[in-house]
Amino acid sequence: MSNSKKLFNSAKKVIPSGVNSPVRYFEPYPFFTKKANGAYIWNADNKRLIDFCNGYGALLLGHRRKEIIDSVSKQLSRGTLYCTPTESEIELSKLIIGNFPSIDKVRLMNTGGEATMTAIRLARGYTKKKKIIKFEGCYHGAHDSVLVKAGSGSAHNGISVSDGGLDEVSKNTLVVQYNNIEDLEKTINKNKDIAGVIVEPILANMGLILPEKNFLHDLRKITKQNNIPLIFDEVVTGFRVAPGGAQEHFGIKPDITTMAKALSNGFTIAAVGGKKEIMDLLSPGGKVYQASTFAGNPISVAAAISSIKTINKLKNKLYSKLEKYNLLFSTALDDMATDMKIPHQINFTASMFQIFFTNKPVTNYETSKNANGKKFNKLFQSLLKQGVFIAPSQFEVVFLSDAHTESDLNKTLDAYHTALKSVKK
Ligand SMILES: *Cc1c(COP(=O)(O)O)cnc(C)c1O
Repeated sequence: MSNSKKLFNSAKKVIPSGVNSPVRYFEPYPFFTKKANGAYIWNADNKRLIDFCNGYGALLLGHRRKEIIDSVSKQLSRGTLYCTPTESEIELSKLIIGNFPSIDKVRLMNTGGEATMTAIRLARGYTKKKKIIKFEGCYHGAHDSVLVKAGSGSAHNGISVSDGGLDEVSKNTLVVQYNNIEDLEKTINKNKDIAGVIVEPILANMGLILPEKNFLHDLRKITKQNNIPLIFDEVVTGFRVAPGGAQEHFGIKPDITTMAKALSNGFTIAAVGGKKEIMDLLSPGGKVYQASTFAGNPISVAAAISSIKTINKLKNKLYSKLEKYNLLFSTALDDMATDMKIPHQINFTASMFQIFFTNKPVTNYETSKNANGKKFNKLFQSLLKQGVFIAPSQFEVVFLSDAHTESDLNKTLDAYHTALKSVKK
């Protein structure tokens, strides 16, 4: 029996389903990890895997990036938690504000879910309105307002996707179709009580789905015309698609921004930023409550400062390199699947891509759902066997990091070739 299997059997006895976050589980059991470095992760059976999960996008610079490990080590010698303000929080805030022109002020917290929860509360506190619009398939964390699916009929009232989630809460979340600006307009016209619109500017939680031409610009225009705060959930895209996130990439200024994953390249930190008049509503100066013991903890702050400085220093060397690698990889994969006569779509941008087994373009929740998940699972299993680790779900994304070499990518392409044969069978 493999060590991972043994560990999984033990884990199941003390951890629900043996995992601490649902997507980590896959059939027949997930591998357990011993260590990671650069582009690689080693499982409990000492097998080295090329990592394309990369902390669900967090590890833009790769595992154990030297600059970050050095900064964190320095901070470790000075303490791990003060729960008082520190000068480094000012430095980090200035760096974030410098990269994101839409942000005047920023509050640090710990997780993406906490950040979107705060962003939504801020929008409600600012507008004194109740309802939130979200787009179908966008993921914003595991709290009641956003853990909703579209209700039936044209009302789009959200229903909770989780037992224990309150429909009283989720009915205040209206769900509209991604890339469908008419659906948004209709919903805004029908409801006068809208406190905010929250969106993943690039949808990275239904596989990878790109915003169609003008979708984000129209979204900005319509929300502005109706005085509705626009929240960009850049938990994935922040620092990953550009130093200033998707908003830099598309040239759009949202009112509120959330970021987390690639903010610190692998430590626990998130942030909410936005216009001064909105951000100043946060307690204790304002009446929108938000608090956390570990917020702005010096370890995560040191990691984030070092991460942003590294990203800003590398800038084009980093982003255009990853873009080039991604273009080459995605194009080669596309050609390969075409040659093998496998119906497929590949969506890619910046350092992210995903393959879908369907002959219809994937542009929203429905088209993503309709892709063949069983085939994707075969692909995943075959890649894993060959030493390539991608996130174990069609609805996640493949993330490149600065640590991947051309040789890693060539090996991975070969592995995809073998994997596609098992998909075809
Ligand atoms: C991962 C994710 C979140 C939630 O972040 P956690 O740190 O897991 O709470 C929120 N929004 C988006 C877009 C995400 O991908």
